[in-house]
Amino acid sequence: MSGYSDTHLFVDGRWRDGTGERLAVVSPSTGETIGTVAHAREGDLDEALLAAERAFRDWRLISPLERSKLMRRAADILRERAESIARLMTMEQGKPLGEARIETLGAADTIDWFAEEARRTYGRVVPARAPNVTQMVVKHPVGPVAAFTPWNFPLNQAVRKVSAALAAGCSVILKGPEETPASCAELIRAFADAGVPAGVVNLVYGDPATISGYLIPHPVVRKISFTGSTAVGKHLASLAGLHMKRATMELGGHAPALVFEDADLALAVKVLSGSKFRNAGQVCVAPTRFLVQDAAFETFLSGFSQAASAIQVGDGLAEGTAMGPLANRRRVEAMEALVADAVSRGARLVTGGSRIGNRGNFFQPTVLADVPLEARVMNEEPFGPLALVNRFDTYEEALREANRLPYGLAAYAYTTSARTISGLSRDVESGMLSINHHGLGLPELPFGGIKDSGYGSEGGSEAIENYLDTRLVTSAA
Ligand code: NAD
Repeated sequence: MSGYSDTHLFVDGRWRDGTGERLAVVSPSTGETIGTVAHAREGDLDEALLAAERAFRDWRLISPLERSKLMRRAADILRERAESIARLMTMEQGKPLGEARIETLGAADTIDWFAEEARRTYGRVVPARAPNVTQMVVKHPVGPVAAFTPWNFPLNQAVRKVSAALAAGCSVILKGPEETPASCAELIRAFADAGVPAGVVNLVYGDPATISGYLIPHPVVRKISFTGSTAVGKHLASLAGLHMKRATMELGGHAPALVFEDADLALAVKVLSGSKFRNAGQVCVAPTRFLVQDAAFETFLSGFSQAASAIQVGDGLAEGTAMGPLANRRRVEAMEALVADAVSRGARLVTGGSRIGNRGNFFQPTVLADVPLEARVMNEEPFGPLALVNRFDTYEEALREANRLPYGLAAYAYTTSARTISGLSRDVESGMLSINHHGLGLPELPFGGIKDSGYGSEGGSEAIENYLDTRLVTSAA
């Protein structure tokens, strides 16, 4: 496809090939190979580790103000290049161009936020018991970071980790997404072109398990950050634990969206259908289990299903496309299996349910209603355009279902009752709860889960803490 570029590794300030055989990048719209990505083997990783170790020694000593200036320059470069980066992202990932643009500009905002956070890594002085003693709590960068990011938001997932690490004074080896490598590489190019010194940011691709298995135990690496499925996250967290490495885990979710009978239903339909089908549902915080109070059920279901069936599905570069293809064939197969299983157990297929055509990974926006709790899709993260609409009677019943799963990433609610809002804020077990609007994902807000959805926030003033050690210096004069 014209305009798509092959992707290289970025090691010690140089764009170069890996020693492994290049991997194909496939268009989700056509199924055709559009490019290749370099493949790092152990020798390449050793070079990245050496570079990250050496660069860390200098980068940690560069003042936060200087680091923040370089980061702001990278943010400006990303803005200048937003149009071409967004096109690359749509070609390799499938999302509509408008969504890719928003993601690219959002990544620039995230860099700006963390650039400012660099200047706020305050310590404190603790009053001493003796008059001649000074007790200082100081923050130091934790050290070289190994970060692993997925294909659903090629920039957004990477920028949170890389920006927080750089702001704190850490160097990074990022293992980017092999399926969507080119747009992620443009993020790293923006940092390099802004003047971030060689070795501070390194980018590798290859076999994910081989790379994580090599980097996580390696003594140079002091901190791990991973975004992806809970199953892989648990495996990587255990490896990090075995080697006493700090870790941030942003894992799967199965977000409940509670719609009470006193809600503004038109608003609930509009906002929730938009957030369900954004990025074809391949979003860790996508609303998935729609729990609707009896009196509102039919109105919500019919409004939501109409909104779903009106969505224009097509190539992300085409004018008017509101939902692109799924990013890879695995997701299409997963959607088919989950729908078939739910229907065989008695769920009602209200709209959608099938792949579209036999070229590319297109799947219909799908709504299932009255889905039994035993259906796989009520328990596994669908990570695709499937909405499950079930009914509830009482607050307690809704809460029981909202908290039933081991996940605890995002939750949503629509109600006009202050009492219900107050109860939900206390009772819903999730890292993020958005009520009467979709308000998640801004750089200044905490972003992260509890329970099996992971630990460590990737936004807000909490995020940089994950990249800092707290040390005590106490001195007597
Ligand atoms: P997967 O579980 O194989 O991979 C998910 C991500 O983890 C990918 O980026 C992959 O490269 C990476 N990965 C896998 N094994 C790894 C390892 N041993 N070491 C390091 N990284 C590893 O599945 P998939 O088919 O790519 O995606 C399917 C599921 O992953 C989805 O259903 C969803 O639950 C989850 N996922 C979550 C997010 C998120 O934003 N939290 C993003 C992408 C995928």
